[in-house]
Amino acid sequence: MKVRLFEIFTSVEGEGILYGTKTLFVRLAGCPFTCFYCDTKESLPLDSGNEYSIEEATKLIDSNLQHQTYKVNFTGGDPLIQHQAVAELAKHVQSKKIPTYLESSCFDIDRFNHVLPFIDIAKIEFKTRDSNFVDSQHHEKLTEHAIKCLGSSIKSKKTTYIKIVVSSKTRADDFKYLVNQIFNSVLRDDIDGFIIQPTYGISEPSLELLLELYDIVYPNFVDVKVVPQLHKFIGAP
Ligand code: SF4
Repeated sequence: MKVRLFEIFTSVEGEGILYGTKTLFVRLAGCPFTCFYCDTKESLPLDSGNEYSIEEATKLIDSNLQHQTYKVNFTGGDPLIQHQAVAELAKHVQSKKIPTYLESSCFDIDRFNHVLPFIDIAKIEFKTRDSNFVDSQHHEKLTEHAIKCLGSSIKSKKTTYIKIVVSSKTRADDFKYLVNQIFNSVLRDDIDGFIIQPTYGISEPSLELLLELYDIVYPNFVDVKVVPQLHKFIGAP
């Protein structure tokens, strides 16, 4: 089996509930989606980065793993594009007693379930209709997959949290519809966090809109947080 990695580096986690933690990022190549705010566009082509055997890739991880690293983050692109390779690499990281973290748009429940046994922390990302993730025809179907991934992660007792990126284009009624879909399928005590992440540098939402979106989540989950991508403020990748 081969894997295409775009890059591997240590940095400070700038997103989600574990922001601030020293993290080894393993960025997989490849993502077929088209979010307008994507900040890793160079890694979207499946032939970006370099190809390795699984053995070469595990050695690369080992040689890049610094002392006192909190977790290894499999990101992309979308890591589920190369789900079989990610499962192998995550299994290797877990054998070193380091937590594994999956950062995905959760577009396919079967691929997600293949990787899940080797993942400790799952960030389940839901895409708003305005993100241009996919065309409107396919948006609902992919949301259904993300909801199934959320349920599967919770059932497997993984640390599980939700992230939604919002922009000035996000419509409160669409966002509310999505939030209702989520909380119709999970209980508030099931999840470990709910992050509203404003876009940075492109179509940034106003504070007024962020507070409106916060107020939509709050009745369902009081610990909802608006967290920007903090790594960008310190110039970290
Ligand atoms: S799913 Fe993620 S990697 Fe793919 S286009 Fe959207 S933001 Fe970029």
